[in-house]
Amino acid sequence: MIPARYGASRFPGKLMQDLGGKPVIVRTYEAAQATGLFDQVYVVTDSDVIFKEIEWHGGKAIMSQKEHDCGTDRIAEAVVHMDVDIVVNVQGDEPFTSKEGLEQVLSVFNGADADQIDLASLMTEIHDWREISDPNAVKVVVDKENFALYFSRSPIPYPRDKNAAVQYFKHKGIYAFRKQALLDFYRLPMTILEATEKIECIRFLEYGKRIKMAISNTQGIEIDTPEDLVRANKILKEEKRLPINNKYRNFPMVPKVVFGRGCFDQLTSIIGPHRKDKAPFIFLVDEVFKNKESVISRIPLRFNDKLLFISSFEEPKTEQVDVLVKSIKTEFTYRPSGIIGIGGGSILDLAKAVSIMLTNKGQASEYQGWDLVKNKAVYHVGIPTISGTGAEVSRTTVLTGPEKKLGINSDFTPFDQVVLDPELTDGVPKNQWFYTGMDCFIHCVESLNGTFLNEFSKSYGEKAYDLCLEIFLDPKVSPESAQEKLMMASWHGGMSIAYSQVGVAHAMSYGLSYVLGVKHGIGNCIVFQHLEDYYPEDVALFNQMIVHHGITLPKEVCRDLTPVQMDTMVSIALSLSPLWENALGPDWEQKVNAKVLKDLYRKM
Ligand code: NAD
Ligand code: ZN
Repeated sequence: MIPARYGASRFPGKLMQDLGGKPVIVRTYEAAQATGLFDQVYVVTDSDVIFKEIEWHGGKAIMSQKEHDCGTDRIAEAVVHMDVDIVVNVQGDEPFTSKEGLEQVLSVFNGADADQIDLASLMTEIHDWREISDPNAVKVVVDKENFALYFSRSPIPYPRDKNAAVQYFKHKGIYAFRKQALLDFYRLPMTILEATEKIECIRFLEYGKRIKMAISNTQGIEIDTPEDLVRANKILKEEKRLPINNKYRNFPMVPKVVFGRGCFDQLTSIIGPHRKDKAPFIFLVDEVFKNKESVISRIPLRFNDKLLFISSFEEPKTEQVDVLVKSIKTEFTYRPSGIIGIGGGSILDLAKAVSIMLTNKGQASEYQGWDLVKNKAVYHVGIPTISGTGAEVSRTTVLTGPEKKLGINSDFTPFDQVVLDPELTDGVPKNQWFYTGMDCFIHCVESLNGTFLNEFSKSYGEKAYDLCLEIFLDPKVSPESAQEKLMMASWHGGMSIAYSQVGVAHAMSYGLSYVLGVKHGIGNCIVFQHLEDYYPEDVALFNQMIVHHGITLPKEVCRDLTPVQMDTMVSIALSLSPLWENALGPDWEQKVNAKVLKDLYRKM
């Protein structure tokens, strides 16, 4: 519940002031909703201007029936007839309301003492004596279990000894009430202490309610004055992220790369300078190398470094990332010096994700999407042993999560170092070589035929495309030369999509993978052969390559799908709007729909 009074005394009409193109109150509403913590979000207001504005933006608003002295009364009136258990009061003038604070205040209801709590609120540490003695900042003192003892505008406790080592807390006006506590507040008359200090929540204490305080040190910004508004607008401008398909993207590239047969042996000297005292390097190595001494014996393990063999039987999952990170954190006291991935796209993506999750809290699935990563990853090195995906150079990691298959796409994702040693691709089975190689070919096709194409993408895409034609169709190319060419094609294909996007084959292949576990490379091939409506010439070339290399693709993979599985597959594919937008233009939704996709999937 967001109480919103139009005529604030210090800054009249402030909730309707413009903040980055929307009124403050709309920003607050959207921020509360974006936390995903609430079943319902309402603005409760005395103003029909605010009411209409919220509805206009697709939100829910309630008009107060009566005059109210405070926001708590306003929301109490609104919930009387609602079936709710916990009501959270978010201040209308806090457009930067953070998820963290709200999460903290709600989390107290999951504690062992939850049944003793009538309401919960937030406090934040303060250190500056000016703030401690400022009557506008309400201080709070708590007992051992963080239940509020008293709120005051005076400094509490009073430090008789000037050097007393006491932590002062400021109260933040966010509350989570049990419905009954809120209704009691509304019913019970104001009390003397409350009236004296002019602090609403003292009423609860005076009537014997228990307020549990949670600590949050994130700084919000209240819009109390016109100056606050100017500051908030500035912050918003700085925070504004590049739209996903911004025309001129400023993206990071891999800063260091070494290429050449046998360059793997330089790994010791490459990672040496990045070793931090007592902090291990963790090597994530595809299990396929377990018995391959010629590779394993050259991995430079020192001190407490750790080598983990990882199966790429299934594509990486967010859960797998979380488990790996947890085991590393449990085993080592020091954050690793670096993560080194040695393998195909699966292992490279896993290495990127683990390095990110070692410095970012929570679970990997929280970061699936664009630019959600907050902190720089630990140093990470990618060493591909099969070519085609471009994962060694890309800004993303493809992960299957509980709800979606989507990468952690961020400026912190790319490797700090890549080692391109074509020799490491010795021994890749023929079919696998073809499927992963076709990933590269398809990246080029999708990028070069996409609407996001520019000269930057084109220059990389065309080179990779030409290399693919040589590798897969020209009988004169020697096996060694083909290895080297494919390694560079993979790199260039990856660079090409970094500045554009993939397209139809990838969107549909993600659906196959999510529902049936079909792997990326082969999934792309299964889809691509049926895309003559979208990429006619390249599908013809692809079919030549299939014949030339004697590859047989699985047939009728979607035959036994249940209707529910089919719907999931289609919805996963259609959820990848940037891919469709690249392939078909901004009006892609008029050109493709569930029926079109179902017909295509049935052909596969
Ligand atoms: P992979 O990593 O799953 O490896 C495929 C198979 O080849 C595995 O069985 C592996 O053990 C084997 N293999 C690898 N190197 C070998 C070697 N030298 N000798 C013998 N066997 C070897 O497959 P992939 O096609 O490289 O990667 C697919 C993964 O990459 C998918 O998870 C996909 O989502 C991801 N991907 C990521 C990006 C990105 O930009 N991050 C782009 C495309 C694909
Ligand atoms: Zn791909």
